[in-house]
Formats: sequence, C-alpha cells, structure tokens
Amino acid sequence: RAKHAGRGRAMHYETLMDDDRDERREMEDALRAAVVRGEIDVVFQPIVKARGREICGVEALARWYRGGTVSVPPDVFIPLAEATGVIDVLGPLVLRRACEAARNWPEIGVSINVSPAQFRNPYFPDQALGIIEAAGIEPSRVTLEITEGYFIQNPGRAKLVMDRLKAGGVRIALDDFGAGFSSIGYLIRFGFDRLKIDRSLTIAGEQSAKGGAMLQATVALAASFDMPVTAEGVETAEQAAFLHLCGCDQLQGYFFARPMSEKAIGELLAPPTDVQAVAG
Ligand code: C2E
Ligand code: MG
Ligand code: MG
Ligand code: MG
Repeated sequence: RAKHAGRGRAMHYETLMDDDRDERREMEDALRAAVVRGEIDVVFQPIVKARGREICGVEALARWYRGGTVSVPPDVFIPLAEATGVIDVLGPLVLRRACEAARNWPEIGVSINVSPAQFRNPYFPDQALGIIEAAGIEPSRVTLEITEGYFIQNPGRAKLVMDRLKAGGVRIALDDFGAGFSSIGYLIRFGFDRLKIDRSLTIAGEQSAKGGAMLQATVALAASFDMPVTAEGVETAEQAAFLHLCGCDQLQGYFFARPMSEKAIGELLAPPTDVQAVAG
C-alpha cells in the first residue's frame, strides 16, 4: 500500500516536472522571439556622486514585458538567456541601445551589465568595442559590469578579455561584490577600474558593528589599490551617509532614483527651464 502511494506521488512529481519543462520551453521561445523582434526594453538607473549627489552616470538594465504587459524579472530571463545562447543577441542589443541613449547625455557615464557567458565568447571584445564606436561615444564613458564568477573559474582567460577591453578604452567594474564568496584581496589583482558593493553588503553595513567594519575595510582596501567604490541598493538616508563616510564615491539605489525610461533620464538631466516655452 505504501509502495502504491509512493508510486502515485512519483508519477505526480514527474507530471509536474513535465509541466515545468514545457513552461520553460515556452518561456525560452517567447524570449527568443522578443529578442529577435527587439522587444527587450532598456531602462536606466541614475548613479550619483556621494559628495554633492549630482548624477554622474546611469546603469542600463534590461526589461522584458512578456506579451507587452507582464514584466519578467531579469533574475529570471537573464539566466535563461545565458543557458540558451540568446544572450549573444540580447547582450549586444542592450549595449547598443545604452550607448545610443548615452550619446544624448555627454556629461555622464553609462554602465552595462555583461554576462560571464558573453565574456567567454572570443569575439566579445571586438564586438563590444565595435558597437561603442558605431554608437559614436567615447569608450572611456562606458563601464562594463561583470560579476566575480568567471574570474574565479577561468582567471587567465578572463584577464585576457578584460585587458583587451581596457586597451580599447572601456572601463571594467566588478559587480555585486559581497554577494559571492571571494575575498577582495584575491580579486584586486585583476585591476578592475571600479568595485560595486552589493546591496546585501550595503544592508549589512548598517545592521551591526561587524557589518560596518567589514564595509569600511572593503572600501579602504579597494581605495589602497586605487579602485573607487560604488554602493548599490542604497534605500535610506542613513545608509547613504554611512557609505559616504566609509569612502564610497558613488551611490546608487531607490533612495536616489529608480530605474527609469530613456526619456525620463533626459528630462532629469536637462529639465525644461520654462514650462511656457515648452507648452508654446
Ligand atoms: P545588478 O547589475 O546588480 O543591478 C542592480 C539591481 O538592483 C537592479 O535590479 C536594480 O533595479 C536593483 N536596485 C537598484 N537599487 C535598488 C534598491 O535600492 N533596492 C533594491 N531592492 N534593488 C535595487 P534588476 O533590474 O532587477 O536586475 C537584476 C540583475 O539582472 C542585475 O543586477 C544584473 O545582474 C542582471 N541584469 C539586468 N539587466 C541586464 C543586462 O542587460 N545584461 C545582463 N547580463 N544582466 C542584466
Ligand atoms: Mg550591475
Ligand atoms: Mg550589482
Ligand atoms: Mg546582479
């Protein structure tokens, strides 16, 4: 009897797995179609100077409104794009859109996330530099954000790709630091241009004395290697003040601004000075 019940459960489980697989396949097809049709949107989150709080850059973030309405989070569709190779189309698409938008904002920088899967592609550096050149913006205004994973997995290869990009004038930032397991001591030798502190570390920094000490030590060590630090996920005035005190020169988070459309960024950077003039 127990055996019977067990088999029944197993069958039910298998059915669920099939459903999951079907759903995944469906989402895969929908994502591929959306990317091919150029239906992936790009929004921009302002990054501000810790001192003075003026906007010094934006981070481009991909958005997918499946079927035009339902928003699928990047934490879901980016891994799917990586697993299926769709990232080879999606990645360049986001880079091109971001660079073209940034052409209208000459006074600020633009950051774009790059997947380890893209970094692994031998054509990536030339392709990325080509896109930036075609968009007509200075490569030095572009920061590519990459997480530590590939640098731990394949340090030699990752360093080569990074050096090729840097030779082209592009900046490279280490993204999500503090969310993984590696030490800043290990990562410093790669020569990143900037460190981005993960939201979890931003939060830990104000939760306990130990968290605060860890944050301070991380920023100090980065600074001693001439690596400026951006803090992500800043949601409160207290966090902003503490991060500034620790030595972060740039801050990013909902406290300052949410990701927004290209148009909204344009208005933020050049607000209409005269409503009458705009209306008339
Ligand atoms: P990320 O690169 O670390 O980007 C920052 C994420 O934190 C964004 O989430 C942003 O909306 C969110 N965020 C910013 N400020 C706050 C805050 O104060 N509080 C909270 N709770 N969240 C905040 P998003 O847009 O959902 O993207 C998630 C991740 O997906 C990104 O993390 C990045 O790893 C990846 N991603 C997004 N767009 C792209 C892309 O075009 N290419 C690649 N390869 N990855 C992307
Ligand atoms: Mg990022
Ligand atoms: Mg991040
Ligand atoms: Mg991330």
